[in-house]
Amino acid sequence: MQIFDTLSRDFKELKTVNGKRLNVFVCGPTVYDKPHLGHARTYIFFDIFIRYLRYKGLRPFYLMNITDIDDKIINRANSENVPYNEISRRYSTEFFKIMKALRNESVNYYAFATDFINEIISQIERLMEKGYAYETSDGVYYSVEKFQDYGKLSHQDITQLKAGARVETNENKKNPLDFALWKKRKPNEPYWNSPWGEGRPGWHIEDTAITERFFGYHYDLHGGGIDLVFPHHEAEIAQMEAISGKPPLVDYWVHTGHLSVENVKMSKSLGNFITVEEILKSYWPESVRLMFIGMNYRDTSNFIMDGLNGSQTIAEKLTWIYRRVADTEAQEKENYDAFMKEIKEPLEKNMNTPDSLVAINDFIKWASNELNKTEGKNGEIKAILDDLDSIFGIVRKAPIPEAIVNTILEIRKSARAKGDYATSDKIRSDLSKLGIKIEDRGNESFAWW
Ligand SMILES: [Zn+2]
Repeated sequence: MQIFDTLSRDFKELKTVNGKRLNVFVCGPTVYDKPHLGHARTYIFFDIFIRYLRYKGLRPFYLMNITDIDDKIINRANSENVPYNEISRRYSTEFFKIMKALRNESVNYYAFATDFINEIISQIERLMEKGYAYETSDGVYYSVEKFQDYGKLSHQDITQLKAGARVETNENKKNPLDFALWKKRKPNEPYWNSPWGEGRPGWHIEDTAITERFFGYHYDLHGGGIDLVFPHHEAEIAQMEAISGKPPLVDYWVHTGHLSVENVKMSKSLGNFITVEEILKSYWPESVRLMFIGMNYRDTSNFIMDGLNGSQTIAEKLTWIYRRVADTEAQEKENYDAFMKEIKEPLEKNMNTPDSLVAINDFIKWASNELNKTEGKNGEIKAILDDLDSIFGIVRKAPIPEAIVNTILEIRKSARAKGDYATSDKIRSDLSKLGIKIEDRGNESFAWW
């Protein structure tokens, strides 16, 4: 399988160094606000990528950090006049809720930065010992000039970077590009004890402290949004490779592209962030996933509401077909082989999901037609839908088994026939709480979810 690596700027064959095991780290959120569509894009992509690797028989260990201490969290806590950890608890809970709602189920472990303070301090101490870090009156900084390869991930020349850097107010830094490893305590800020006094960690050091603890000096793949390449990921390389003296930190750097909304870049100042919560009020998670499947993950892409409406139509078709074959035994025969080949092949070429989507749409056409003709292909249709759901998470299942839904509908039908509308209304409202909507058309009732 080929994957595009940001460091070498080239497609590389995905190889593992530990047999089936693949150690993967993806930058998680800074938990100070609700997740928006940009987060959804990145985390849905990596979820599908990891699902596909598992489907292929690999055993990725998918690790994600949660930045639960940061200026943004402290600012929000101050503006609400609450402790910082009330903010981080609220928005990490919200993040997990949204990940679950989006069906991003593949993360093995979420590592909270503040649980790794000892590891962070240990890394800073080693950087000090090796001469890569220095202490000032307000913190400990990484000296980028000491690290020869600084700029290699973002393909920038450090002297040009230095010239372009805006004049810093921090007089203590040797070079404006130097970044904080430890920030000394200011009044009313949360703090931990360290050899440099009370303070808190910088942002970049948390990731390498966490990955060293789980994976050691080197691991397979690091992912995140493209906006994290510089300085965040550049700093990670500088930290870990300086400590280990054994490059590379990782074999593959994988980055997702920017997302605009209705042709405008999403930004706080423009206030055009669309939260995932808002979208999920009107659309299925499967539709949101299908919309991103239709985009190449590395492209700068544009979110338009019409696109999401189109994805909702595809998701509904898949569900409709699934409901017709849900109780059938899956059969992996020639049509299964042919369609799955068309769907999987593009994924082998740097996760080219838009081409897989073309094949999925071909399958929908074929399956809809076969369902009308005969029952003969139902087992194969079921097998394809099962695989599509394992890889992409796009087939919406009933929250309870289909057979039970049908039995409940029968009971409700006989209640209605006897004029027992109290029972029939109660069934409708109880099912609605499970996410199953009942629609009455004359004497017939249909269930939707
Ligand atoms: Zn990170």
